[in-house]
Amino acid sequence: MQYDLIVVGMGISGISAAIYAKNSGLNVLMLEKNTPGGLLNKINTINNYPGVGEITGPDLSYKLFQSVNDLQITYKIAEVENIILIENKKVVQTNIGDFEAKYVILATGRKNRNLGLKNEEQLIGHGISTCALCDGSLYKGKEIVVVGGGNSALEETLYLANIVKKVYLIHRRDAFRAEFSLIKKVEEKENIEILYNSTITSIKEENGKLKEVVINDKIHLEVEGLFTYIGYEANNFLKDLDIYNETNYIKVNENYETSIQGIYAVGDCIEKKIYQLITAANDGAVAGIHVSKEIKKN
Ligand code: NAP
Repeated sequence: MQYDLIVVGMGISGISAAIYAKNSGLNVLMLEKNTPGGLLNKINTINNYPGVGEITGPDLSYKLFQSVNDLQITYKIAEVENIILIENKKVVQTNIGDFEAKYVILATGRKNRNLGLKNEEQLIGHGISTCALCDGSLYKGKEIVVVGGGNSALEETLYLANIVKKVYLIHRRDAFRAEFSLIKKVEEKENIEILYNSTITSIKEENGKLKEVVINDKIHLEVEGLFTYIGYEANNFLKDLDIYNETNYIKVNENYETSIQGIYAVGDCIEKKIYQLITAANDGAVAGIHVSKEIKKN
């Protein structure tokens, strides 16, 4: 069977694209390798998405997923491995088989950046985390470290400070890049100690679990938990497609079309200036509408 459109990724941008395409009468398939909602599932509080008030990331994910079900959009849990172009057709190869469509929208997001320390990878899930919402309660009453100076680091520090005994917030420069209101809240919170001009130079483990974080090669913090919020990295996993820039983000035009006819990209995987939920939803809506118009033209 050939679909009109395959949307790869069920985060907010992919779901927005699928909603508009489905409402225009297209035959849509969504593919997702993990949990619908993507990175939203790791956010504890959202207060800047209009119309839903203050909401947790998982609750907003659930609402998005409800829209997929309400509109009877077909979806499958599948990991996309490659996309092959055959004349006007796109063959999306996945771990559960191949799927064909006239158009593809990539909404594959990006992943958390790592610090690049020696034993970091092994300690993820054993003391190192990028999800305060998922793992914060493991450190109730304990001291932990958060690293980063953007909105994510400061928001998650505030969340964690309400659970744990003390948070050391480590930032490599002498000023945060987060919003002023967040900085003020962090500075006012009694159990947050900010260490500016500080870099984590090593981490130590004991019995496969995090034991100590070393700052600037001289300060030794005995902590069991380290939460890293140092931004994101894009992923150019579709190696055969020449659609990426030098930092692995996908280049698109104002309609969210890539350089390959019939392949679009939206949300956090594209090169753009503002990465917000609302801008991701916008990308998806515009691309979904554009694909629908293109299909009706032909
Ligand atoms: P970000 O804004 O890119 O900030 C990353 C932080 O990590 C920066 O402070 C950076 O330091 C630091 N960093 C980067 N690499 C590092 C390294 N190797 N070692 C130590 N520190 C390192 O990332 P984000 O906070 O996750 O935010 C991503 C995007 O989502 C932004 O556009 C942000 O505004 C948005 N966001 C918005 C909200 C909201 O609206 N409430 C919430 C969360 C995120 P430098 O400052 O020195 O570069």
